[in-house]
Amino acid sequence: MLDVVRIGADILARKAEPLLEFNDALKETIAHMFEAMARDRGIGLAAPQVGIGSRFFVVSIDGDQPRFFANPEIVMTSEEQVDYEEGCLSIPGVYAKVKRSAFVKVQAYNERGRPFVLEADGLLARVILHENDHLNGVLFVDRLGDAKRARLLAEYERRLRI
Ligand SMILES: [Zn+2]
Repeated sequence: MLDVVRIGADILARKAEPLLEFNDALKETIAHMFEAMARDRGIGLAAPQVGIGSRFFVVSIDGDQPRFFANPEIVMTSEEQVDYEEGCLSIPGVYAKVKRSAFVKVQAYNERGRPFVLEADGLLARVILHENDHLNGVLFVDRLGDAKRARLLAEYERRLRI
């Protein structure tokens, strides 16, 4: 079982490297990531969050098929943005509204290394953008104003000490 890395770990602030090998070890890692995500009731989990500095993530939203994205490129986002409350398995207990594009077109590779293009809106678009941020060392709290980010993280750390 994989442990989820918490905010403060270097790997969460680094840009991940392209995934090069689509092999059996990857399939096993993906299965473990889906397990960890289900255990922690998440809907998305990026490789850096389990200590792997590669560009891939998994998504599992109620009512949708489980999804895997490797080496994703966001090829288009809508100008229309929406505000929605987000959380992150790497910052447990912290939630805040984040503004993101309502629609996204992403190009990526599946677990067998085959390319695909996906257009998404709603929650799926949001999760794709959140997880893609992880591959660039960006957490959702980094998209908030400095004061709000600082307040939320101070509360988070206070809770850790209790
Ligand atoms: Zn996250």
